[in-house]
Amino acid sequence: MSVLTDKHFHNEAAAYAFVEKRIWANGITCPHCRNSDQARIGALGGKSTRIGVRKCYACRKPFTVKVGTIFESSHLPLHLWLQAIYLLASSKKGISTQQLHRTLGITLKSAWFLSHRIREAMREGNLGPMGGEGKTVEADETYYGPKKDQTPRPRDAAQGPRTGGKRKPGFYKRPILGLVERGGQVRTFHVVQATKENVAKLVTENVRAESALMTDESHIYTAVGKTFASHDTTKHAADEYVRYEPGKVVHSNTIENYFSVFKRGMRGVYQHCDEKHLHRYLAEFEFRYNRRMALGVNDLARADSVLTGAVGKRLTYETTRQG
Ligand SMILES: [Zn+2]
Repeated sequence: MSVLTDKHFHNEAAAYAFVEKRIWANGITCPHCRNSDQARIGALGGKSTRIGVRKCYACRKPFTVKVGTIFESSHLPLHLWLQAIYLLASSKKGISTQQLHRTLGITLKSAWFLSHRIREAMREGNLGPMGGEGKTVEADETYYGPKKDQTPRPRDAAQGPRTGGKRKPGFYKRPILGLVERGGQVRTFHVVQATKENVAKLVTENVRAESALMTDESHIYTAVGKTFASHDTTKHAADEYVRYEPGKVVHSNTIENYFSVFKRGMRGVYQHCDEKHLHRYLAEFEFRYNRRMALGVNDLARADSVLTGAVGKRLTYETTRQG
């Protein structure tokens, strides 16, 4: 039977019950005054009441599970939200706004807004460092951006337009730094420029010093590499992509493969991505990778964990537009 036949994807009351069970897993909390005394929170019944409305007897205000979450002030039915979350969480390379618009029968504007809110719920904050003793962390950078985007990188804008010289490939593209623990999690960052200072800061903050670091031969990792238990590199320029040494296999193929899924998804599905929204797309791909099948997470469990991140991530249309 198709998972999409589940009741919460079609019935609004079932959708509320589904979301409540997850967001209020430890009991209902009033979003206005934080009252969590279950005896002092009532359900408003009656035919005239909207689905899911509760009343707090401490502050006397009504509320639903949508208050303070990505669903707040959205007029779209919650069961459609759940369909969209499932689609975004289960498609390895993402779902375009156009596709959501057609599949869910909602306007393009709603589809755009909804998908950005879901990406926001997928964003993970304040994570501890990755790696550790006996763990290998690969670091690499890539460049992403539409060919016709001719906005100069900030350092160059400050220097004014250059008149001569040849620019490196990817000059106008947006640098992304990626870190992946082998067999574990990935973390990606949109950086203004992939300089050794910017890279060193992120690598140091996000990777435990006891880790074995592996990168390509790029000079931007040389200095920061010395602060780790070990730092091994492969020479891509000499066509070396993997090297077998006693007790270790030197390569950065895990992060490179990750970037290739990201790029294929962005190219095929999200053709128009403003730089100010890039961090949300990065969060979306990270979210799926960090909950991948190989780690024992199935599509339904992945969609469920979007709801865990739905609290406290309210975005208004305006803040979404601004980035
Ligand atoms: Zn209250």
